[in-house]
Amino acid sequence: MIYIKSRRELDKMRRAGEVVALVHHKMAEIIRPGITTIELDRIAEEIIRNKGAIPSFKGYPCAYGGLDFPGSICTSVNDVVIHGIPGDYALKEGDIISIDVGAILDGYHGDAARTYAVGEVSKEAKDLIYHTEEAFNRGMAQAVEGNRISDISKAIQEYAESKGYKVVRDYVGHGIGTEMHEEPQIPNYVTREKGVRLSSGMTLAIEPMINIGTWKVRVLDDKWTVVTNDGKLSAHHENTLAVTPNGPEILTRLY
Ligand code: MG
Repeated sequence: MIYIKSRRELDKMRRAGEVVALVHHKMAEIIRPGITTIELDRIAEEIIRNKGAIPSFKGYPCAYGGLDFPGSICTSVNDVVIHGIPGDYALKEGDIISIDVGAILDGYHGDAARTYAVGEVSKEAKDLIYHTEEAFNRGMAQAVEGNRISDISKAIQEYAESKGYKVVRDYVGHGIGTEMHEEPQIPNYVTREKGVRLSSGMTLAIEPMINIGTWKVRVLDDKWTVVTNDGKLSAHHENTLAVTPNGPEILTRLY
């Protein structure tokens, strides 16, 4: 069940969130053609551990019976939606890469994803990245006291589909706190469930995954990498946030 965090817990989540934001700050700086995804992983892990935090994803058990997740971050290139495993792939001009970062500090998690352009990318790719972030923003704007989870879902789906995109169904946002994945689930599309009513002190990871083509996805033989069924591009934007009396507050940012 989703629970209300105390002021003290929210402070801890801000500090965990800042570690995640620091990693993204660095990723934005170093992503370029030629860098491999394992190098990005190594640099991310170093930042997380230097701050006294632990990468939440490393060793995460596989939902499909595969090996525990080997990386500290997920590196999802082009048609990879989420859960791309860092490896020897060297980024190429025109790629897009979604980086998902989770860190646990002092018992609390931060979780955030961004999609980055590698060098010059197509207008199609640029637009997808922009509108995925905007879909996140529309969802976040609904994370206010008194609303329900479904208000977030509806805002994301309506925005994404109004731009001609499709919303991934198989993976969703989530509550977050002492566990990386807590109740409730936060779908990026409307379901029959209205979901819980939001109140101050709830902490959520809102994370639209938006596809240019079909919403359908499949998991590769490594039992982690999720790709679009049609091979078209996918983008991901996520932040951990708190519902407050003054509206949503992003926790995965630099303070
Ligand atoms: Mg997440």
